[in-house]
Amino acid sequence: MMLSVFWKKYSLLVWLGAILILGFLATSLASYWVSRDQIRHSIIDQGLPLTGDNIYSEIQRDVLRPTFISSLMASDTFVRDWILSGEQDSAPIVRYLSEVKREYGAVSSFLVSNKTLNYYYPQGILKTVQEAEPRDIWFYRVRDMNTAYEMNLDVDLANKDTVTIFINYRVLDYEGNFIGATGVGFTLDSLARVIDDIQVRFNRRVYFVNEAGAIIVSGRSGELHKGSIHELPGIAAIADKIINNNAQPTNLEYENEQGRVMLSSRFIPEFNWYLVVEQTEAAEMARVQRVLLGNIAVSAIITGLVLLLCLYSVNRFQRRLENVAATDSLTGLLNRHAFELLFEQAVHEFHRTKTPLSMILLDIDYFKNINDNYGHLAGDRVIMRVARLLENSLRHGDVLCRWGGEEFLILLKQTPLKDAQLVAEKLRVSMAAEQLPLGNKALSITGSFGVAEFGGVETLVHFFARVDRALYLAKSGGRNRVEIIE
Ligand code: GH3
Ligand code: MG
Ligand code: MG
Repeated sequence: MMLSVFWKKYSLLVWLGAILILGFLATSLASYWVSRDQIRHSIIDQGLPLTGDNIYSEIQRDVLRPTFISSLMASDTFVRDWILSGEQDSAPIVRYLSEVKREYGAVSSFLVSNKTLNYYYPQGILKTVQEAEPRDIWFYRVRDMNTAYEMNLDVDLANKDTVTIFINYRVLDYEGNFIGATGVGFTLDSLARVIDDIQVRFNRRVYFVNEAGAIIVSGRSGELHKGSIHELPGIAAIADKIINNNAQPTNLEYENEQGRVMLSSRFIPEFNWYLVVEQTEAAEMARVQRVLLGNIAVSAIITGLVLLLCLYSVNRFQRRLENVAATDSLTGLLNRHAFELLFEQAVHEFHRTKTPLSMILLDIDYFKNINDNYGHLAGDRVIMRVARLLENSLRHGDVLCRWGGEEFLILLKQTPLKDAQLVAEKLRVSMAAEQLPLGNKALSITGSFGVAEFGGVETLVHFFARVDRALYLAKSGGRNRVEIIE
C-alpha cells in the first residue's frame, strides 16, 4: 500500500535516477576501459622499447671512448717492445699505466703479460694471474678468443651506484702472436644515472640477463629480481622468449603476485647480455582508477542534485495544482468544489460540538449595469474588491467562497441565525459605504444577502436552497438588504 503510493508519486524520479546512474556508469566505465587499453599499449609498444633503446644507445656511446683507449694501448709499440724486451724494469710500464689512468680519468688501467703472468697496474705489480683463480678467468678467456677485444660490465647499483666497464684487449707481437692483455676500466656514470632515473621516474625495472638466464644487474630502487629468470614465478613461462638472440626488442607480458607485468627485452651484442625493462601495470592503472572514482563521485553528486531539483519542482507543481483545483483564479478565494468539502467538515464539527452553523449568500446588485457601463474588466475589479472586503471583515474560522459570477457564500461556524444576520448586516453596510474608483469617478455598490441556519439533517443542496430563497426575498424586497429564513 505504502509502496504503491510511493511508486505512483515518485516513479518518474526513480526512472530518471536509474537512467542517469546507468548513463554515467556506462560512460565512465567505457572511458576507463579505453584509457586502460591505451596506457597498456603505449607502455608495451612504445614506452618500454624506447627505454631499452635509450639505455642501449647510452651503453654504445659510453663504451666508445674506453674501447678506443684500450685499442691504442694494445697497439702501442712501447708496450709491445717493453714486453718483448723481457719486462726487465717495471717502472716505465707502471708510469705508462698511471699516466693513462690519470689522463683519461679511468678507474683502472692494466697490463697482464702472457709470459710472466704478472698483472701490472698504476701502483706496480698487483699479482700473478692463475688459471685456477676465478677472478683471473677473464685473462685465459681473452688469450683464447678470436676477436681483438671483449667487454666486461660490472654492474653494482645496489652498493656503489656505479656501472664499471672493462675493455680487455689482446696485445700481439709483430708476428701476430699473443703476448698479453691490456685495457682500462671506466665508470659509466651516465648509464647508471639513466637506469636509476628510469626506475624512479617511470617505476620501471631495468636489469640484464645473461645467456643462461641469470639476472646480473640489481637496481637501487624497488625490490629486485634475483636468480634465474627460468625459476622466477611468472617470468619463467616467457624466459625462452626473452633469450632469443634477436636484435629487435621483444615485447612480452607475464603475471606474478603483483599482477600483470609488461616487459621489453633486447639483445646487447657487446656483452652477450639481454637488457630487460619491465613495469607492473598496477602502478600505472592506479592513476586511471583514481580518475574513474572521481568521475563516479561527480556523477553521483550530479545525479543527486538533478533528483533533488526534480523532487522540488514536482512537489511545487503538485502544490500549485492542488491550489488551482481549490481556488478561484480571479479572487483567490475558495471555489465551489473546495467549499463543498469544507461544508462536509463543518457538518461533522456541527454534530460533534453541537454548535450552530449558519450560511450567508450574497449577490451584488445590478452588476450587469457595471459590466455594461464600464466593461467586463472593470466588473472583474469590482468582484475582486468585494472579495477583499469580505475577506477582511470575516473571522479567521469563517469559510468564504466565490460561489459563481458575483455571488459569494459564507459559512459561519458556531454562529446562530441571529448572529449571522448581524454579520450580514455589517457586511451590507460596509459594502454600501465602499467607494470603488472607476476611471475618474467613484462608484458605490450594494449587495443583497440571504441568511439561514443549518437544520442538522438537511443536505447542502437543501440548505443552500433555503439560503437562496432568503436572497430572493432580499432582491425582491428592493435589494441592498438582508433577509433570513427561519
Ligand atoms: P441583480 O441585482 O438582480 O443581481 O442584477 P444583476 O445585474 O447583478 O443580475 P445577475 O446577478 O443575474 O447577473 C450577474 C451578471 O454578472 C451576469 C454576468 O454577465 C456577470 N458576471 C458573472 N460572472 C462575472 C465575472 O466573473 N466577471 C464579470 N465582469 N462579470 C460577471
Ligand atoms: Mg447574480
Ligand atoms: Mg447580481
